[in-house]
Amino acid sequence: MKNEGKKETEQAKRLDEIGISQEKGEKQPFEVDRRSVYRCVQCGTCRSVCPVFDVVGWESANTRGRMLIIKSLLEGMPPSKDVLPSLASCTTCGICASRCPAGANPPEVVEAARTQLVKCGITTDAQENLKSSIMTYGNSFGETTDRKQWLSETERSKLPEKSDYVYFVGCLDSYRYPESAKKAFGILRRFGVTLLPDEQCCASPLLRTGFKEEAEKVMKRNLEQIRKVEAHTIITSCAGCYTTLKSNYPEEIRVVSLPEFLAEHLEELSLKKLDLTVTYHDPCHLGRHNKIYDAPRRVIQAICTLKEMKNIKENARCCGGGGGVRRGYPDISLELARNRLKDVPEGVDYIVTSCPLCVRNLRDAGGDIEAIDIVELVAMAME
Ligand code: SF4
Ligand code: SF4
Repeated sequence: MKNEGKKETEQAKRLDEIGISQEKGEKQPFEVDRRSVYRCVQCGTCRSVCPVFDVVGWESANTRGRMLIIKSLLEGMPPSKDVLPSLASCTTCGICASRCPAGANPPEVVEAARTQLVKCGITTDAQENLKSSIMTYGNSFGETTDRKQWLSETERSKLPEKSDYVYFVGCLDSYRYPESAKKAFGILRRFGVTLLPDEQCCASPLLRTGFKEEAEKVMKRNLEQIRKVEAHTIITSCAGCYTTLKSNYPEEIRVVSLPEFLAEHLEELSLKKLDLTVTYHDPCHLGRHNKIYDAPRRVIQAICTLKEMKNIKENARCCGGGGGVRRGYPDISLELARNRLKDVPEGVDYIVTSCPLCVRNLRDAGGDIEAIDIVELVAMAME
């Protein structure tokens, strides 16, 4: 009870700081861009595509419902934990934005609203845990082991201190799929690519869940190292890292996704043909958010037969892992992944994708076909 009281006082203090004083009855608007909120004309086109609504079924868990709640907050509704099931359960997949006839960008609005809620001290426990793992340990899992555990001492000692190119590994490959990290770097190092001396989380989970100030600190640490290494290009194998490095780090840094790099160097890789048929899952943050559709398909077709899924490219359904939803609402997240598995065609050997979070969620959803990262397929073709 004492803690509850303390929390309420802290919350009131934060509300005061940003000009939302419940005691005085003065409801200042959130700092969310009004034009982007009012662009939504509540037509409901997005209801039919929001993957979370598809699973949950509440009006507040579809895009239109989220936009209405944010509009109400702008117009004076006091922010409270009641809005979290709606605003914290958006995966930021962006399919609503691609369909919106009015040109609204709901995931951007949701992220801005989450930032305001964080300022008010209104967060879920899952968001708080994620934040403290990143701020304390530099990774989203709270891992205390070395981020480069997948590299031998000898390999580490040979890492170039300066290079034009850096491989940004990301938390997932570093700690959950070190074999993928090893394979990706095994290819990249042939081209003189190095690693950051002390890579931190890219800050994607912080940005997606509204912890903007904390994200700035983490990005600053990575940026200092990128400058120390004197790299002008960052290569990453994670779709979440890609979107963050591309949109939130300084523009002068060139960001290249691993499938783009592989597609550019197909001839030098001397890949052999494999007697396999695979399908490809477009990660939301590589596909819809950044329009990288062809490069991974070119790599796959250089190796084996590609049989497309039911919904692809701009229409690809989300795996359910993003936007903090996997951590905060694991059941919803896995249900989204199960729905995505329904799009897998008959007669394929693997589901190939270009994001470790998609690999993880699609694997955890079960299903008969194994989900693998594109680098695994490339490694098979190099054996
Ligand atoms: S976000 Fe766009 S598609 Fe959805 S209700 Fe608003 S105007 Fe319609
Ligand atoms: S970004 Fe995806 S999950 Fe979020 S509201 Fe839009 S369609 Fe729904």
